[in-house]
Amino acid sequence: MSLANKLTEERRRRLAAERMLELKQAELFAANRKLGKHAQQLTEEIVETRAEVETIRGENQRVKSDLTAANQKIQVVERRLWHSIESITDGFAFFTGDNEMIMANRAYLAVFDGLEVIKPGVNYVTILQTLTDEGIVNTGDLGPSAWRQMMTQRLQKPQPEPVIIQLWNGNHIKLTDQRAPGGDIVSLGHDITATVAYEQQLKEARTVAESANRAKSAFLANMSHEIRTPMNGVVGMADVLIDTELDEEQRLYVDTIKNSGEALLVIINDVLDYSKIEAKKLDLHPQPFDLERAIQEVLMLLQTSARNKGLSLLMDYDMFLPTELIGDPGRIRQVLTNLVGNAVKFTTTGHVLVRVTGVPDEVAGNVTLHITIEDTGIGIPESMVDHIFGEFNQVENERNRQFDGTGLGLAISQRLIEMMGGKIWVKSEEGIGSCFGFKVVMDPAGALHPEHRALPEGLRRVMIVDGTTINRDILERQLERLGIGVTSCSSGAEALKNLDTDIDLILTDHNMPEMDGLELAKTVRAKGYGVPIFLLSSNPNQAEKDPAKSHVQAVLQKPVPRQELFERLETLILTPAPSTPQLSETTPVTLRKLRVLAAEDNKTNQLVFRKMVKGLDIELAFADNGEEAVTLFQRFVPDIIFMDISMPKMDGKQATKAIRALEERTGGHVSIVAVTAHAMEGDDEGILAAGLDHYLTKPLRKPEIIAQIEAACGTDVTPPIRRETLQATG
Ligand code: ADP
Repeated sequence: MSLANKLTEERRRRLAAERMLELKQAELFAANRKLGKHAQQLTEEIVETRAEVETIRGENQRVKSDLTAANQKIQVVERRLWHSIESITDGFAFFTGDNEMIMANRAYLAVFDGLEVIKPGVNYVTILQTLTDEGIVNTGDLGPSAWRQMMTQRLQKPQPEPVIIQLWNGNHIKLTDQRAPGGDIVSLGHDITATVAYEQQLKEARTVAESANRAKSAFLANMSHEIRTPMNGVVGMADVLIDTELDEEQRLYVDTIKNSGEALLVIINDVLDYSKIEAKKLDLHPQPFDLERAIQEVLMLLQTSARNKGLSLLMDYDMFLPTELIGDPGRIRQVLTNLVGNAVKFTTTGHVLVRVTGVPDEVAGNVTLHITIEDTGIGIPESMVDHIFGEFNQVENERNRQFDGTGLGLAISQRLIEMMGGKIWVKSEEGIGSCFGFKVVMDPAGALHPEHRALPEGLRRVMIVDGTTINRDILERQLERLGIGVTSCSSGAEALKNLDTDIDLILTDHNMPEMDGLELAKTVRAKGYGVPIFLLSSNPNQAEKDPAKSHVQAVLQKPVPRQELFERLETLILTPAPSTPQLSETTPVTLRKLRVLAAEDNKTNQLVFRKMVKGLDIELAFADNGEEAVTLFQRFVPDIIFMDISMPKMDGKQATKAIRALEERTGGHVSIVAVTAHAMEGDDEGILAAGLDHYLTKPLRKPEIIAQIEAACGTDVTPPIRRETLQATG
């Protein structure tokens, strides 16, 4: 190779090397620049991290100081809590789940009077042992070991119930142990000594009050007896006096005496009953009785005042309900008397209707009775409806103020119905009328579904004549349910128009405008109809005296109990005659007089009794005491005895027992009616247990005596009430 070539080659290599150098230098420069950038970035990051570290350090400092403050607060709270626990007078302690004491306050430890063993760490069982060993606790009848056992068992329960322990010094501590969620036990001993002492005082005060209350009710009962005895004389004598010849002024005086006396008796009875209910001294005495008859009797007693006001007293007793039921007849009658009495009192025109409906329960074999008393009286403002059932509460407004009363009747009725497990209510509209109702469940005394008497053959159509729609409706419904056709007429004239030979019986009301029932009967006969006629009257005595009475077959007291109506239907329809022969005319002369014995020590009461039965065709004898009653029972052989209960020598109950013992030999059973003024609870029970059949309370009332005498009549005696008697005495 030439030199020139070599040089060229050399220059070429040098140039290449130079280029390579330049390239490497450029690369180095770029790398340097990158490195510089990275170093710059790192520097920036370091600065940021330093700032963050600074911030965190500050925060950490704050948290630390907060924690210190919180710790200090916790210590303060803990101290305060402990001070509080220490300062409470009740004992307070904590136990672990294994029953070891964690801590206890001073009050808790004070009970142990500084005993070394009782300190944190002690077991609950050791505490119990110490309590009994040291005699700190009075274990009573249980004895130490049984007491400890009882307390240990109690503690084992998940939530032990509080227990009261008595300490040696008589203090009472109520111990409440609560298990916390972790199993720890919090134990609180609350000193209830003062409460126990107070309870004891209350108990003693209650006993004293109860005995005072008993004394009060006994006092009231005795007072009522004492007041009733002379009242019997006052009211009874006034009753007798009314039947004598009196001029108008004298009659007014006697009426006033009698009415005031009876009003006083009502008040005495109300106050007495209420005080007995209050003292829980009033018990019910369920026995078989006839509900329909009880309602009838209540209506009879109120008939006079209703008649004087021109009100109709009506009864609608569901045909398919039993009337013989088991209940307390006296108390049922009392509720009815109050409700019907109020209805009559607060009604001036229209009617008072007692309705009995019911639902027999075939499974239970009893019947739920709904008895409502509906009137067309002044009504009760809506705001007063609840008020009137309260004691001594009355509606105090213009209309109401004219009526007197104690305001106790409804309160007593409500309590009585509640005692019977029933409910009482009222619906009323002012100026329209009220409807009081009560519901009671009663067992039937006989069949749940009474069998109806067979109706006389030939009785297919009955004519009802009555001016009052509601009255007609009741009778109509009752007869139709028995399958009898009914022709309803609202007046005598309408009846005469519809009368034909299809009618088998006429049931007519007595008092009707234009043509009354007796005039109707007279006209029917004049027209030549011999159809039997029954007169339904609210004043049968007056009807009996009317000469036109001979045209009717029977005079029935309104409202007529179904039983009586059926009995009359049976006897009269079968032997119809336009004019019935008088009973006395058909009575054989061989009949003897009914013998009545009255055992009564009080002469005034004897006189009242004598006067009350004056017009009756009976033989009457008096016994002054129980002994005499027993003697006369054998000698006089009475058909009925009215037996006073409190009499000297031998009281009415003893005399009755003696008579019943005598009867065991002879096999007879004389009807004995207890007569008593006693109102103490349990008396009537004792009376019936002594063998008496019935029960009358003084003052005696003529209708009650006569009803008992009539009920005692056998077929071998002259009927005590003769037509001429009735006419003579009214
Ligand atoms: P008393 O009739 O002796 O006042 P009650 O407790 O029997 O007491 O009745 C309380 C009150 O309820 C009566 O005073 C009367 O205001 C009202 N009241 C009761 N029954 C009726 C009724 N049938 N119609 C209107 N108000 C009545």
